[in-house]
Amino acid sequence: MKQIVVAGIDAGSSAIKLSLYDGVHMKNVSCPAGWNPKEQAASLLAAALAKQKVITPAYLVGTGYGRFNLPFVTKAMTEITCHARGASYLLPEAKTVLDIGGQDAKAIRIDGQGKVQDFVMNDKCAAGTGRFLQVMANALGLDVAEIGNIEVGADGQQCTINSMCTVFAESEVIGLVNRGVTREAIIGALYTSIANRVAAMAAGIQPMPPVAFTGGVAQNQALRGELAARLGLLVITHDQAIFAGSIGAALYAWDALQVS
Ligand code: ADP
Repeated sequence: MKQIVVAGIDAGSSAIKLSLYDGVHMKNVSCPAGWNPKEQAASLLAAALAKQKVITPAYLVGTGYGRFNLPFVTKAMTEITCHARGASYLLPEAKTVLDIGGQDAKAIRIDGQGKVQDFVMNDKCAAGTGRFLQVMANALGLDVAEIGNIEVGADGQQCTINSMCTVFAESEVIGLVNRGVTREAIIGALYTSIANRVAAMAAGIQPMPPVAFTGGVAQNQALRGELAARLGLLVITHDQAIFAGSIGAALYAWDALQVS
């Protein structure tokens, strides 16, 4: 990387994401938020800077749920603003961003520069978030990444999950397991439940295609397909989509440096 480096940190509910930017290269790294996100973020930053042989970032923007707990940032910015900008950097053709993170889901309509035109967010309830998927994966004896490797519908069985509430839905999953319903069928029903929930939320901003799917849950390709079917729109993603917030923060940090 070049001499002048800025940083964006997205302190999320489950993971800390960091992006270092020198005007050309964007380096992204992450670690679990753990029980002390402030220290986790500081260590992640120190290690990433050392690796790039940079002493200190020229400007550091913090975003995410834990942004007010990062004393070393130059400025804090909202997640919506940063996610929109970062998604547009990764997927410049995007007109809408659907971000599903650890404990919230957001739909954002954006212009060609990644500026927010409208948004809607669910941060009141775990339904339709990564937390929901994680709880259900655990009830099926899997971790959240393993769920994505299971081919839904491969066995021809189908079932439905009716509860929106995570606690009741978990009981439903346990009930289905005990009735001998297959994992494949249950996972299919979970995708339908999440996609219905998120599509209903997104309807509030009249989403336009292509829709950029970001956040940790965007790593699940089957869910991307289910969301596309529910929305009736093209849904695209990027292998760095979990970093949309930190990338947006780093780009705003770079802008701030240019004007200061
Ligand atoms: P936050 O900013 O709240 O920490 P992230 O956007 O970093 O959220 O996403 C974290 C969430 O992503 C976790 O809840 C986890 O369940 C989910 N997740 C992580 N890896 C995967 C995966 N491979 N497939 C689906 N979901 C995943």
